[in-house]
Amino acid sequence: MAAPRRKLIAGNWKMNGGLAANDALLRALVAGLAHDGCKVAVCVPAPYLAQVQALCAGTSLELGAQDVSQHDAGAFTGEVCAAMLKEFGVGYCLVGHSERRQYHGETDTLVAEKAKAALAHGITPIVCVGETLAEREAGRTEAVVKRQMAAVIHTNGHCISEIVVAYEPVWAIGTGKTATPEQAQQVHAILRAQLKAATEHSARISILYGGSMNAANASSLLGQADIDGGLVGGASLKAADFLQIIAAAR
Ligand code: PEP
Repeated sequence: MAAPRRKLIAGNWKMNGGLAANDALLRALVAGLAHDGCKVAVCVPAPYLAQVQALCAGTSLELGAQDVSQHDAGAFTGEVCAAMLKEFGVGYCLVGHSERRQYHGETDTLVAEKAKAALAHGITPIVCVGETLAEREAGRTEAVVKRQMAAVIHTNGHCISEIVVAYEPVWAIGTGKTATPEQAQQVHAILRAQLKAATEHSARISILYGGSMNAANASSLLGQADIDGGLVGGASLKAADFLQIIAAAR
């Protein structure tokens, strides 16, 4: 029988926050979290890892990072490696977010290597895949997400069952345009089938939806058969909105 997947809601703060704002947001989140709810993580800018680690201590809120180097150590100025993230209690790390692919030229191969580096240090990579509007309009959605996913499967072999996937249509990120539940489910089912062909443990792999998820649309998205949670950008910066999404995932 397939293992039940507890839903995961992960917030991506992107390059937002500050010591005082983080403190207020996290205290409000911790106060509002239900004891028997879904898994919740916040992926924060690297300078705030220590602060957020301290504020999450003893709570069910888990800590995530937004990127990781593919290298272990050495002359890579500005980079942060997985061992460093691990020292701050990081449990999740985004890899291949579309903003990294778009603004930092991250390729499918590099994203796969970053996922491998995270896994090697016991950090769950949240591997982001998704098509641009032009790719969707050209009927290439399936080919694009499968190509992105295939690179990660190829590089990570049997460890693939330890990843989390986030399907994030690029045209829906930060735009207020959400994929319909049916559009999202269709792509999640494609990814689910691809993962099933790659590992007998595919039932463990959570596939999150990301792209303008908010308090109003969360429950219809999260109600789809293959949507196991959400990767939430803008709405994760407002405690009330994020808590409503978390409540919808129960
Ligand atoms: C994201 O940054 O991963 C994201 C989904 O952003 P938003 O929710 O703001 O669209």
